Amino acid sequence: MDPGQLWSSVEYQRQGRRVLELLAEFVDQSRQGDGAVVAVSQIEDLISGMGLDDFPPPESEKADRVEQLLNSFLSGSTRLHHPGYIAHQVALPHYASALADLVIGTINNGMSVYEMGPAACALEVVAVDWLLSIVGWQPSGRNRGNPAAESEPAGGGVLTHGGSLANLTALLAARARICPNAWTEGVPDDLVVIAPESAHYSLSRALGIMGHGTSALLAAPTDELGRLQPDRLRQFCDLISESGRRVMAVCANACATATGLYDPLQEVGRFCRERGLWFHVDGAHGASALLSSRHAHLLTGVELADSITWDAHKLMQTSTLCAASLFRDRTALERAFQQDATYVTEGRREEGFDVISHQFECTKAPLGLKIVLTLTAIGERGIRRNIDALWDATRRIHDRIGARPGFEVLCRPESNILCFRRDGEDRLQTEIRKRLMNEGRFLLSQADVAGRRWLRLTVMNPLTDLSVIDQLLTSIECIGEETS
Ligand SMILES: *Cc1c(COP(=O)(O)O)cnc(C)c1O
Repeated sequence: MDPGQLWSSVEYQRQGRRVLELLAEFVDQSRQGDGAVVAVSQIEDLISGMGLDDFPPPESEKADRVEQLLNSFLSGSTRLHHPGYIAHQVALPHYASALADLVIGTINNGMSVYEMGPAACALEVVAVDWLLSIVGWQPSGRNRGNPAAESEPAGGGVLTHGGSLANLTALLAARARICPNAWTEGVPDDLVVIAPESAHYSLSRALGIMGHGTSALLAAPTDELGRLQPDRLRQFCDLISESGRRVMAVCANACATATGLYDPLQEVGRFCRERGLWFHVDGAHGASALLSSRHAHLLTGVELADSITWDAHKLMQTSTLCAASLFRDRTALERAFQQDATYVTEGRREEGFDVISHQFECTKAPLGLKIVLTLTAIGERGIRRNIDALWDATRRIHDRIGARPGFEVLCRPESNILCFRRDGEDRLQTEIRKRLMNEGRFLLSQADVAGRRWLRLTVMNPLTDLSVIDQLLTSIECIGEETS
């Protein structure tokens, strides 16, 4: 007898089959555009709708509440597989990755120390080495005697619960290089990080967390679309030196969250090499374009970086969360978290044996399984085809919107992110977004770029075709008429 009723394989399989059926129905309906892409309602109503006003439920009612709860949970959930989901950068996960989540949740290997998931640790090495090889870096300490590799350091990397943590990891490594004592002695006040203003907020937040203050993030010179201008970096850095401050890292977007535009990595990388500056590429969204022979050129020069952030849960079809913080030189990563976790590791083990010594998390899910299972199911070819299809669709959508009177597009898209606006004021764009969301047929996001507000599309779903966009534009025109 199991006093806590922790596990019943009979119930696990019985309920599991039903859960899989419900989820498959949810996804199928979503793909057909049935149901609202998002049903935004008051949080109190959602709680009541799920029957959770009294929580936890009385003992007598517990049995078979699972299906009911799951049904009402799903009806209050955002449908990423819906063709009207054109808002955020989170992937429609491949089913292989969704199944990885089931495996992860069931065996619960918190694999930060080797004994808590040896196979998971092996998959992390496989996934990281694969990503490193795509960047053009050496694998993590498994050079296998390749003489061509002798001049290049072994690469390194760690999978993280998201790109924000990956960015924090990269900046910690950058700081460990320029100021190794900061970990124990605290932070000096002369260190700054340079990034375009369009950089993801997690960089500024990382500097807040690291104790430098968000004001240590200096806005790099950019063009009007927020792209780094490498020819103006030299003078910018000189001014920083003259004011007695030191540059801890230069960060570039690949691509920028709001516009989907890529910074010129090669020029920035060369400049950083010349000056001995740490170069970080935030490729959370767009590094996956490296897998496409047609679009990899957008990241030319990426191998000049010292660190890269790369999310698999955006354009590699894994479920959330699954990201990587990658380093050209693995010793840089090993210095990022100089903290003695001996209580867990019982003294120093072989370097790189336990991932715990170079990651933020203490317990970590076996994230490598998501990447490995997804790649096993669809291969690099599957990822490439998806990226090419989304990129192409976004160009077509751009042309369609640009040709429609009463609409303006920001610029020709370089990725699957596109900004456009309805002729009118900024607040009209916000109103349009809100109304569309309330109607439940389209979910868009918005961004402020070049001093104006734009509606922002992230085309994540190959089912979002031109007929969907035509319907979207017609809906927006109706909203424009009602509010004018
Ligand atoms: C999405 C994004 C992030 C944040 O990644 P999370 O996985 O959401 O934490 C960081 N940088 C860029 C450029 C992004 O697009």
